[in-house]
Amino acid sequence: MTQAPALTRVTRFGFVNAYLVGEEDGLTLIDTTIGKGGARAILAAAERLEMPIVRIALTHAHGDHVGGLDHLAPALPDAEVLISARDARLLGKDMTPDPGEPADAKMRGGYPGTATRPTGLLEPGQRVGSLEVIAAPGHTPGHVAFLDHRDGTLIAGDAFKSLGGVATAATRSWRFPLVHMATWHRPTALESARSLRALEPRRLAVGHGRVVEAPVAAMDVAIARGAQG
Ligand SMILES: [Zn+2]
Repeated sequence: MTQAPALTRVTRFGFVNAYLVGEEDGLTLIDTTIGKGGARAILAAAERLEMPIVRIALTHAHGDHVGGLDHLAPALPDAEVLISARDARLLGKDMTPDPGEPADAKMRGGYPGTATRPTGLLEPGQRVGSLEVIAAPGHTPGHVAFLDHRDGTLIAGDAFKSLGGVATAATRSWRFPLVHMATWHRPTALESARSLRALEPRRLAVGHGRVVEAPVAAMDVAIARGAQG
């Protein structure tokens, strides 16, 4: 089996991304885009890479990231399905807060839930193949990012976006307002943006927008803007 490229972006409708990460044992799918069409596009991309999808890891429980899961699951009965414990509750439509969460936090954006249940829970620091799970709460309470230790790629989910310019989930953006509008707690999102930047990623792969090479300077600008509200 030849090894697939480290990162393949699957994009739908020009604005929502999933990623296939090549590993020795197959592909890790990060997020699932939306609906049956999204699932079909992901399966077609995996077929082109000639590798099976062996695990699905979700950055967070918003509908545009988990919406392909129930359509993928029947085609991938042996794949692991992984999400943080906090967002696993949202996947199961349990919208109650955890004790100690900020009083001014609010569930925003679409949480359609999925019939597919996770097979495992993601913990910060855990390895998923070559990827390290990084806590990145704020956009959702249990949002995580993934750092590929082979090449410094940060798969940031919606902790950052690049559509309409690189921005944090805490930044208001009139060109693509959805990520900011759907953010659970903006001060927490800004803190997470700072800790992701501190990893000094060499490539930034986001849920919405193109992959950004050498992103640190753009992340600094985005964080400074995010701090202005
Ligand atoms: Zn989101």
